[in-house]
Amino acid sequence: MRKQIAAANWKMNTTFQQGERLLDEILGAEVALAAHQHTIFAVPYPYLLMTRSEVEEEYNYSVAAQNCHHRKNGAYTGEVSAEMLHSMNINYCVVGHSERREYNGETNSMLAEKVNLCFEHYITPIFCCGEPLSIREAGTHNEFVTVQLKESLFHLPADSVKALILAYEPIWAIGTGKTATIEQAQEMHRHLRSVIAAQYRAAVADEISILYGGSVKANNAKELFSCPDVDGGLVGGASLVAADFVEIIKALK
Ligand code: PEP
Repeated sequence: MRKQIAAANWKMNTTFQQGERLLDEILGAEVALAAHQHTIFAVPYPYLLMTRSEVEEEYNYSVAAQNCHHRKNGAYTGEVSAEMLHSMNINYCVVGHSERREYNGETNSMLAEKVNLCFEHYITPIFCCGEPLSIREAGTHNEFVTVQLKESLFHLPADSVKALILAYEPIWAIGTGKTATIEQAQEMHRHLRSVIAAQYRAAVADEISILYGGSVKANNAKELFSCPDVDGGLVGGASLVAADFVEIIKALK
């Protein structure tokens, strides 16, 4: 079975102490994960080491950075490189979240560089794609995400593509309380898998975990995750409430 993943994206939320408490509450629920299930906490940079030590003893619980820079190193004040993350034993990194695309001008080609740097440093990218509302309304969402994949991922060898985690996040559903229907989620996830199969081969597409993101909540996670091509979720708001995120972890197939 493909890896099923509940990934928390804390964004720029919680103080350090609140973050510690949140982790304690979630881990305190002692949700035992099966071999094919995984929980990942994408936390702010200053919380990475604390989170890493909190999850160290837990089976299939990991920590991720929310971003890394697209250059290897150098005069980029305030930025964090993939090499730095690797040196701190951080093995996952969110790449291309729509908020970074929008507020930090991240382009598909910059994201290709980030993905390369992640792989060079043994970091699994959690690569985000997804369309804005205008594209969904125009009915060109399949083409839009296809271009995002082509320009940021399709230079990679099949083994790398197989190893990464993909997150489909329709921008109109992020933080809005408006969730894609299970039909919309399943249709897009199947489309993404078919694009990967066409570029590589079906076996590659079958292996890659594709998460849905966009107002995943405790009360809709089970239904969304039940879609055959949805392999879990990337969760913003609901990952900040321990009881809700625990339910989302329990909803994994
Ligand atoms: C996200 O941060 O990627 C996200 C999907 O947020 P939310 O769950 O709040 O919509």
